[in-house]
Amino acid sequence: TIRLSQVCKSYGDYPVLKDIDAQVARGEVVVICGPSGSGKSTLIRTINRLEEINSGSITLDGQNIHAAMRAKELNAMRSRIGFVFQNFNLFPHLSVAENVSMSPIRVKGVAPEVAHEKALKLLDRVGLADKARAYPGQLSGGQQQRVAIARALAMEPPVMLFDEPTSALDPEMVGEVLAVMKSLASEGMTMLCVTHEMGFARDVADRIWFIDAGQIIETATPKEFFSNPRHPRAQRFLADLR
Ligand code: ATP
Ligand code: MG
Repeated sequence: TIRLSQVCKSYGDYPVLKDIDAQVARGEVVVICGPSGSGKSTLIRTINRLEEINSGSITLDGQNIHAAMRAKELNAMRSRIGFVFQNFNLFPHLSVAENVSMSPIRVKGVAPEVAHEKALKLLDRVGLADKARAYPGQLSGGQQQRVAIARALAMEPPVMLFDEPTSALDPEMVGEVLAVMKSLASEGMTMLCVTHEMGFARDVADRIWFIDAGQIIETATPKEFFSNPRHPRAQRFLADLR
């Protein structure tokens, strides 16, 4: 379970997150949506501490993510929270298999042969068994993003965070990435996804968080959210999509 209580964050004197209270239960899939600049990326990045917070608390299964900790503990904590970025962020000088096996070897001390075997299994799972020896630059965007998902999964995180994982992709590649995310969800992964893919939200999310100007102003099931959004700002957001 992820628990955010009274989370506040400012850049200088500009508040980006205002008193966020929210929870994600184990196995739950939450889609975060809202207008550009509303704080979606900032919110999700505070959860694995890519961003610091000014006040409040964030816990994962009771562990305080923003407690004082050494670099080593911070890495261990981060490795429990998989993060998939809009722009893949693969290591260009490493092969696909090396990208996937690197963190288990370096951070967890897994034996290289074991990590490599596991990487091949994960690549198979995301439909890229034949690309293990390729380099990221030789792959399409959709393939690179699936490698990025496999790389995050290699650490066996109990939680996966996604920040607009399909926004940088050509339209024909969006589906293959969403399909991987959907299969993860169906296997019970706890997921928080910032995405504009409302079809995914409708089909896969357990809950939608609608965020505007640094506040979660509506949380609802997809059914409620899409058929009967309560907040006028959410109503306008949905109308603009159509
Ligand atoms: P988008 O849909 O465009 O990705 P978002 O909802 O993810 O937007 P954030 O990236 O979280 O929004 O940004 C929220 C606000 O914080 C914006 O006004 C943005 O300009 C500001 N902001 C983000 N990062 C920084 C930073 N490093 N320094 C100062 N301001 C920032
Ligand atoms: Mg963003």
